[in-house]
Amino acid sequence: MVQNKVYIIGHMPPDLDSVASAISYAVFKNRIEKTDKYQPALAGEINKETEFALKKFVFEKPPVLENAKDQNVILVDHNEFSQSVHGIEQANLLEVLDHHKVDFKYGQPITFMVEPLGATCSIIAHMYFAQNIELSENLAGLMLSAILVDTVIAKLPTCTEKDKKIIEKLAELAGIKDWQALGKELFKVRSSVKALKAVEIIKSDFKNFNFKVGKIGIGQVETIDLGEFSERKEELLVELDKLREKDGYHSVLLLLTDIIKEGSLFLTSSEDQAKLEEALGAKIKRGRVYLDGIISRKKQVVPKFAKAFNK
Ligand code: MG
Ligand code: MG
Ligand code: MG
Repeated sequence: MVQNKVYIIGHMPPDLDSVASAISYAVFKNRIEKTDKYQPALAGEINKETEFALKKFVFEKPPVLENAKDQNVILVDHNEFSQSVHGIEQANLLEVLDHHKVDFKYGQPITFMVEPLGATCSIIAHMYFAQNIELSENLAGLMLSAILVDTVIAKLPTCTEKDKKIIEKLAELAGIKDWQALGKELFKVRSSVKALKAVEIIKSDFKNFNFKVGKIGIGQVETIDLGEFSERKEELLVELDKLREKDGYHSVLLLLTDIIKEGSLFLTSSEDQAKLEEALGAKIKRGRVYLDGIISRKKQVVPKFAKAFNK
């Protein structure tokens, strides 16, 4: 029996960085503290590229934690409770380790580490290097995969020089000569949406943000071919409307991001389209607008919304 078990857990729904961060940070903490009390956990079911990467680098899928109430918890890859596992408000929070904007409040002093790198796994990789902790080939491969997905194969503006060095170092440790090829392999798995239902496409990477005007949900799918969605737009727009009405959103958006052309088609549903247009600085026609050069939800979309919707 593990005493005082501590769950390390990413956001809901989990993405590869969330899962790889939970796994790699648990290994790190257990090694440093010579214990086995740190355990990776999931806030929900994993997506396809996460399943693919876990298999490729031979990791077991961590267990799903249904409710964090009364548990010891470390949050990775997010710091907003609106993105957390159920019961987080009643959990005993020990640490936060993240690379997103900070929207966090807690009644006690805790370790809170945020660094604006391309992925949480970059922060953790740096900790391994700084403390000279051995990284296995497989773990290096898993962390590398997470960074490649989060930074869209090092293309996003969130990918810093430090991230690029970490990518090279992890690739070397993992024995991977061509990390761009690994990145493309991951995105091929990620964007094979044909088999998914519209609502699954929307929810595959979906985040809630609370602004003064209300709750806004933003989903994003990064693809190497926008054409894959040409037949699905109407259906996706209908689902966005349904989701907005059912869950009381101010607006719900799905960003279909073409990582080769470096732009995003925004599919939108809003109770105040004029306000949304103002936030985006563009006219929305039949629920959609293409914005060239916009590929990062975090760096390019959320800040615009914070400005427009917190007035
Ligand atoms: Mg994430
Ligand atoms: Mg991340
Ligand atoms: Mg992401």
